[in-house]
Amino acid sequence: MTRANGLLIAIDGTAGTGKSSVGKAVAARMGYGFLSTGEMYRALAYKVFAKNITPEDHDAVLAAARALRFTFIRQPDATLKMFVDGEFLGAKLHLEEVGNVASRVSTNGEARHVLTEKMREVGQDGAIVMEGRDIGTVVFPDADIKFYLDASAEERANRRVKQLQEAGEKPDYAEILRLIQERDYRDSHRAVSPLKPAEDAIIIDTSHLNMEQVIAAVLEKLPHHAS
Ligand code: C5P
Repeated sequence: MTRANGLLIAIDGTAGTGKSSVGKAVAARMGYGFLSTGEMYRALAYKVFAKNITPEDHDAVLAAARALRFTFIRQPDATLKMFVDGEFLGAKLHLEEVGNVASRVSTNGEARHVLTEKMREVGQDGAIVMEGRDIGTVVFPDADIKFYLDASAEERANRRVKQLQEAGEKPDYAEILRLIQERDYRDSHRAVSPLKPAEDAIIIDTSHLNMEQVIAAVLEKLPHHAS
């Protein structure tokens, strides 16, 4: 281990593979912090949306990224509660539209660089599970251990539909599947930091695993003090 406080564990992968739930559970087991970096892209998207900026307007998106002030406060469940310019945005960040704008603003290489620097500040001392798309490839290529979670688009759409139904909504499976495929395509074909597993990542296909099984598969790979 090379960091002051503990391991830096990277969890990357496509949307809807349970990265956040798994990351949170692993962080709690380790007594580590947990950070979803997608929330940072979502925060940028939210601001871009609120300011009526076109997500493809390079300079305006970059300015919005530079203006973001993040504060992270560690919660009892190990997650880092994120405040953006002093405000907790919470569920607003998880609207489908915000996720979609997030994937559009995240094609902006310079804005990515700004957010990447902010992520490095949070993670550099370790004792953290960081979840995203490019943690193991770009943000922390020297992470102590890297995981890449994947699952078929159909399985991920099923999971999302179930989640929304549980929240009392009436989601349309075909539309959810279309959005997932569109986002996958954009995330994996962008010029800057496209979504792909790091060469030294441990790849876990979660299509036929439940959450407990994925958590167990991750914990099993961590150094002995993890379990
Ligand atoms: O993980 P989540 O769905 O919250 O991420 C929202 C979007 O942010 C993703 O679709 C992706 O385009 C972008 N993202 C990224 N790099 C990260 C995390 C998220 O490009 N490290």
